[in-house]
Amino acid sequence: MTGTPGRRLVLLGATGSIGTQALDVLTRYPHLAQVHGLAVGGSRPELVAQQVLAHRPAQLVVSDPARADDVAAAVHRACREEGRSAPRLETGPEAVSALAGALGEGDVVLNAITGSVGLLPTLAALASGARLALANKESLVVGGHLVTEAAAPGQILPVDSEHTAIAQALAGVRHDQIDHLVVTASGGPFRGRTREQLAGVTPQQALAHPTWSMGRVITTNSATLVNKALEVIEACFQFDLPEERVQVVVHPQSIVHSMVTLVDGSTIAQASPPDMRHAIGWALAHPEKLPGLAAALDFSTAQSWTFEPVDEGTFDAIALARAAHREGGGAMAVYNAANEEAVDAFFAGTVSFLGITGLIREVLEHPQRPRAARADGVEGLLAVEDWARRTARTLLTAAES
Ligand code: NAD
Ligand code: MG
Repeated sequence: MTGTPGRRLVLLGATGSIGTQALDVLTRYPHLAQVHGLAVGGSRPELVAQQVLAHRPAQLVVSDPARADDVAAAVHRACREEGRSAPRLETGPEAVSALAGALGEGDVVLNAITGSVGLLPTLAALASGARLALANKESLVVGGHLVTEAAAPGQILPVDSEHTAIAQALAGVRHDQIDHLVVTASGGPFRGRTREQLAGVTPQQALAHPTWSMGRVITTNSATLVNKALEVIEACFQFDLPEERVQVVVHPQSIVHSMVTLVDGSTIAQASPPDMRHAIGWALAHPEKLPGLAAALDFSTAQSWTFEPVDEGTFDAIALARAAHREGGGAMAVYNAANEEAVDAFFAGTVSFLGITGLIREVLEHPQRPRAARADGVEGLLAVEDWARRTARTLLTAAES
């Protein structure tokens, strides 16, 4: 098997759904890279300790200073028991970005953090020259132009089943041969429901995704279709196409992960059973293929794959995102920040399920909404995002009282 001798890897978000599956892939295919550093939020100290013992990173970063002592204690105890020296431990968001930028050409950074806090680490990784395996779609959605301008051609490899599928379907296809992309959506747990039927749904119901097992934010986003909305914009930036050339189709089986329709009327699809290790392994190994990475489809038994349009009257997340993206000027940063606040409020019981996209709309339509000029760079964008978070919280508090 072809390896990449001496290649190092930094994994941001190691204890999450993508992070743990990425470490599984690295355990099975150790030739892919040697783990140089792990970054975590800090909520699962014992898991971090196990990961340190198994993968021996030189560096460990805990982004949340309030959790750093617990993580340090668990890691030091585990290393002492095994007679090993502990990795260098640093704390805080700046240390996460420093770790993201610590490697260089020939190495790889997998950004599997949730939320727009992934933006600065994404920019740091791109500046270093390392390959960026990007699960943190929020950084590309929120910082679209900044991120694509900072990236060398082919430097970003998407770790999102739809975008990984499109990238594979596009092998050997020129950009001017693409007519449009077709992003598939499972439809989430509430497919087929009316708005009346969605009014009272609980966080527990929203967390029961029919086909994928993922972190809390992306699972909720899958139920509201905000995840699909973010993915449409992710596709625009990743594949350099306007939003009207990125179609969404509901495909409840999650087997066809997305498609590309060419100018000659041919559609190319990528299909495999739903398993994120496929997307992770694809991005880490590209252009090699990992033998036995994930189960293949079995056509010896009957199966049917179905496709249907999105019910945009019930689920308004995609239309809202398309409008925000067309507007530009940081509107997608506002959209995403309002959503992140709304998801927290949904779990705290202070906003209803339908109130999530209701809040996004309200913040986007706010008469004082600031715009970010391209010239203001990342600081301008972060200021707009900060305004959106504060405004969302104010609107939520006002609604409660
Ligand atoms: P998750 O919530 O399970 O894990 C997030 C990880 O990030 C945790 O390890 C957490 O400790 C860490 N973290 C949080 N804040 C951090 C910070 N500031 N610095 C460093 N680490 C931090 O999330 P997930 O489901 O693994 O998703 C991660 C990203 O991948 C998201 O952007 C999501 O949209 C995307 N994604 C996930 C899936 C999936 O199957 N889970 C599929 C496609 C895309
Ligand atoms: Mg996806």
